[in-house]
Amino acid sequence: RSGFVAIVGRPNVGKSTLINEVIGQKIAIMSDKPQTTRNKIHGVYTTDNSQIVFLDTPGIHKPTSKLGDFMVKSAISTLAEVDAALFLIDASEGLGGGDRFIIEALKKVKTPVFLVMNKIDKIEPEALLPLIVQYKELHDFAEIIPVSALKGNNVDTLLRVLGGYL
Ligand code: GDP
Ligand code: MG
Repeated sequence: RSGFVAIVGRPNVGKSTLINEVIGQKIAIMSDKPQTTRNKIHGVYTTDNSQIVFLDTPGIHKPTSKLGDFMVKSAISTLAEVDAALFLIDASEGLGGGDRFIIEALKKVKTPVFLVMNKIDKIEPEALLPLIVQYKELHDFAEIIPVSALKGNNVDTLLRVLGGYL
């Protein structure tokens, strides 16, 4: 199996960390500063029978400038072209305006979208379900998968389920 997968999400939700965890080397630029990742960064995950190319998209956010507008449009056109999209959220933070803006963009494409709930190492397990319910009301996600990109928890499951869509 092979395919292209875009990773979208607000700044600092852990997109670069997830790509690094999957690829096993530091290719995406990590920083606590939002928006370090200005370009699509390709990471290739290869096993004996699969190859998945990950694209770290520049943040989709309400544009406040011409450059911002361009970045949002470019991210949405990327979304339309890939086989699947991972919408990363920070499960330790509530559902905010930034997440809602991205969900509106995701509705514009037919690409299957995985809701990847990251940073579960920071939350109580009971906090997960109410958040899932909130997100499910907003969009029909193909899959919902809780992970910790930092600790590597459940990332193997994410890759296995993703493989089924390629
Ligand atoms: P990006 O802006 O979406 O690419 O986010 P980064 O990958 O740069 O991560 C932003 C911050 O969140 C960094 O300090 C990461 O170490 C941290 N982070 C990422 N994933 C996790 C996680 O699963 N758990 C915890 N506790 N922190 C994480
Ligand atoms: Mg990044």
